[in-house]
This record gives sequence, C-alpha cells and structure tokens, in this order.
Amino acid sequence: MIVCYNILYKVLNIPNWEDKLHMSTRIYDCLKAIGDKIIENKDFLTDLDREIGDADHGVNMARGFQSVIEKVSQDDPDIGACLKKTGMTLLSTVGGASGPLYGTAYMEAGKVLMGKDSLSAEDLKLALEAAIAGIQKRGKAEKGEKTMLDSLIPAYDVYSEKIASGASIVDALDAACVAANEGIEYTKTIAATKGRASYLGDRSIGHQDPGATSLTYTLETIRDFIKG
Ligand SMILES: [Mg+2]
Repeated sequence: MIVCYNILYKVLNIPNWEDKLHMSTRIYDCLKAIGDKIIENKDFLTDLDREIGDADHGVNMARGFQSVIEKVSQDDPDIGACLKKTGMTLLSTVGGASGPLYGTAYMEAGKVLMGKDSLSAEDLKLALEAAIAGIQKRGKAEKGEKTMLDSLIPAYDVYSEKIASGASIVDALDAACVAANEGIEYTKTIAATKGRASYLGDRSIGHQDPGATSLTYTLETIRDFIKG
C-alpha cells in the first residue's frame, strides 16, 4: 500500500510528501529559536538602523520577541494559533514600521496554518505567500524599495521553484536562504523609497536594510530548526 502510494505521488509529481514535518509542540521551540537569534543580534540590527533609520530595529524586535517567548504557549501544537499569537504580540510590542509589518506577516501565515500541527513543504510555501501578501498590503511596498521584501520575495521565489522541481524542504530552504542573503546585498546597492530611510534618498545607498537582515535571520533560523 505504501509502495502504491509512493508511486501514485511520484506519478502525480506531488513534491515532498515524505517531507511532512511533525512539528507538534515544537512550534514554540521554533519561535523561541527565532527570538533568540533576533535577541542575539539586537545590537547589530540597531546599528544598521542607526545608519539609515532611527536606531531602534534591534531593540524593538528583541523586545517583541521577548514578549512572544513569554506569551506563546509552550505546549500548544496548533502552528497557526501560535503564529497568530506571535503576530498579535509583535503588533502590540514592536514599535515603528516593523511591528505592523512583522505582526501582519505572522498573523497572515497563521491563518493559512490554523489547526495544523505539522508542516509540509507546500504548507510553508502558502504561509510565506500569505506573509508576503500581508506585508505588501500593509506596507504598500514592492520589491526594490530597500525593505524586508527584497530578501523575502526572492527567497519565496527560489523556495517555490525548488519544491516544484521535487527538492526537499531543507534543500529548498537552503536555496531560499542564499537568495535572502543576496537580497541583503542587493539592498546595499539601492536607495530606500519606503520608510524612514527614504528621507535619506541616495545617501541610503551603501547601507544594508535592517528589515531584510532580520527577515533573513528568521528564514535561516526556520531552516536550521527544520534541519534539526
Ligand atoms: Mg527604526
């Protein structure tokens, strides 16, 4: 039966069914790992924001994730519910533009994953897609404006291509993280047209975007967490 199932999936070319990740009760650990990474890099993120913004990105995000670590239930297996709680917490504790943008991203991803206690490669794709749509709607931003989207959209594109061609979730995330880091490099080459950094105009060129940086940390942590 398993063999038939396997062949059926291969014939239908449904990618990565073997990859279904049982994350039950581990979603908290994943969120904690993201929080730890942000908190660990708080000063660096704040320094980046000092160059082109108002020097609060690391401090704000660290405060937000400290609160997430305290508020999200450690044994709730519902990935969507935990992400929704994360989004609401970030929305109410992170100031500036990042609070609403990250808050929306987590809440929209949470809607897609509501009721799920495991995550397939396709689930993750849909969650990333929803996060991007939420950020774009809330921030009225597109790729190429020196924002977190300059890492997130290329990462999503590469991830989608990889899983469509049958790559494992880990390989797809590895490629996505490379794209996200290239996105950071790309933000150094362009002027900001969104957010506080846009006040600097061309003087923002040469500086990497703090939001693209924290976003890349997030993806790298998810990748490392899934790799185990
Ligand atoms: Mg700021």
